[in-house]
Amino acid sequence: MVLIDGKKVAEQIRIELKEKISELVKSGKSVPGLVTILVGDNPASHIYVNNKVKACEEIGMRTKKEVLDASVSEKDLLALVRSYNDNDDFHGILVQMPLPKNFNEEKIIEAVSPSKDVDGLHPVNVGNLVIGKETFVSCTPAGIQELLIRYNIETAGKHVVVVGRSSLVGKPIANLMFQKKQNANSIVTICHSAAKDISVYTKQADILIAAMGSPKFIKGNMVKEGAAVIDVGINRIEDKTHPKGTRIVGDVDFDEVSKKASFITPVPGGVGPMTIAMLLKNTYKAYVWYGA
Ligand code: NAP
Repeated sequence: MVLIDGKKVAEQIRIELKEKISELVKSGKSVPGLVTILVGDNPASHIYVNNKVKACEEIGMRTKKEVLDASVSEKDLLALVRSYNDNDDFHGILVQMPLPKNFNEEKIIEAVSPSKDVDGLHPVNVGNLVIGKETFVSCTPAGIQELLIRYNIETAGKHVVVVGRSSLVGKPIANLMFQKKQNANSIVTICHSAAKDISVYTKQADILIAAMGSPKFIKGNMVKEGAAVIDVGINRIEDKTHPKGTRIVGDVDFDEVSKKASFITPVPGGVGPMTIAMLLKNTYKAYVWYGA
């Protein structure tokens, strides 16, 4: 069994991007830039945004953090987003989700220019993904595909079973994997909570991708011997043996499933670290495609 080290792959991607950016600086060119827009005082969102800003700084990317009070009007938020659509110093715009409840998230996402939508959430980019056009793919699914590539896991003709159909993970990873393209070309099944018994599907998977948000749901007897298992779940559970009284687990019961899998991502340290790395990669892409 091979443990997929997402932390190591994410670090490798950052090193590659840092080298590319330092080449740009050496040749006197401008560098890619990412602006993050944060509304309100959700502590988790502040941590996520700070991590993104720090990651940009570490590789020499231009970065700016816009923090707005939760009382800001939708009109002012839209105006700020649009001002960055016209700002050539920033090639990527990330509005941290979730927004406070009084905002219409769809409207804000649609205000971001598709050419700067490095989160891959704009309907134009989602549509491009579905029809197989090169586009910005949302960061977690893009990170999953990158892990499969870097661990040489064959995808062509393989049966990929995705558990979960969210717009952030399940739908985009399914759409990525069935494209008639290199590093994809899989036969894809998506299952969700309407399935009476998901093990009927999960047992058929050559590559199983669990994105459910249900701690340790996928057990050993739900997985085929030799499957590659990608665990997207991040769930906090009680654990009195831990100093904090809680710990993070995935959607897969690692102890059971790792005995049968050929490859498996741990939680933490598997898919999680890839998300920011892919945000940086998407921002670099935005620079190359539209900004350089
Ligand atoms: P979500 O929006 O809550 O979607 C969960 C999906 O799983 C839904 O489609 C749901 O089905 C399905 N589901 C839930 N329980 C099920 C069950 N018992 N049987 C079959 N299907 C079931 O969640 P999400 O945003 O996709 O996130 C999923 C997990 O990934 C969460 O733990 C989240 O924290 C984690 N995550 C991690 C990263 C990262 O690593 N960077 C990024 C994003 C998310 P229905 O559609 O029928 O309700």
